[in-house]
Amino acid sequence: MANDAAAASAGADVLTVVAIDGPAGSGKSTIAKLLAERLELDYLDTGAMYRAVTFACLAGGVEPDDGEAVSAIARRIEIELAPDGTVVVDGIDATTQIRGPEVTRAVSAVASHPDVRSELVSRQREWAHRRGGGVLEGRDIGSVVFPDALVKIYLTASPEVRAARRAGEVSDLDYDTIAADIARRDALDSSRSADPLRRADGAVEIDTSFLTIDDVVTLLVERVEAGRSSS
Ligand code: C5P
Repeated sequence: MANDAAAASAGADVLTVVAIDGPAGSGKSTIAKLLAERLELDYLDTGAMYRAVTFACLAGGVEPDDGEAVSAIARRIEIELAPDGTVVVDGIDATTQIRGPEVTRAVSAVASHPDVRSELVSRQREWAHRRGGGVLEGRDIGSVVFPDALVKIYLTASPEVRAARRAGEVSDLDYDTIAADIARRDALDSSRSADPLRRADGAVEIDTSFLTIDDVVTLLVERVEAGRSSS
């Protein structure tokens, strides 16, 4: 995979790619969206793509552990990600369901299949190539999708802060349930053999636990400007 990744992302140096990775609740989505606005780049939430495949599997009665069936769905589904966050899967608006508990419970199993990953990774590379770059956030952007990105960021925060953030975003689940789900997904995402969550070589690690969103975005804008002027 690493060689494939290097080959397929060849030319990333002519793109303006900002890669943001980190675990759930590290602040990735909020920060990546604001950073994209500040840099006037498009933004891609790659987690939404894994969630979209999971939604299609659940809707079609496909078991998340059935690698072959899940991969077939990943290859054939149409995923539309609108700039306002709307996610349309095979013509159905799945914006709410992809964030719901059923999809959240199953998504890490779906994302563990190598063929699902290679399909979505190639769509993510295409997305960036079509627009000359962008801010991409996920778990493997700096390590696999664009190892040659202009700037690579790895965001972290303590488990307690991450669970509290998620609890503030969803109204139907309590803190303990959310903390347990995050711990379970962290373990699955970090231990899978295909493209596990890890800090990419050369990524700047930022612990966002005690920083404001504005502080982090300002820090990242500076990093990107520095990267642009030295490239
Ligand atoms: O970012 P979000 O929490 O929405 O991602 C949902 C899940 O999708 C993650 O827990 C992970 O299993 C998977 N994912 C991934 N690689 C990415 C983005 C998300 O494996 N680049």
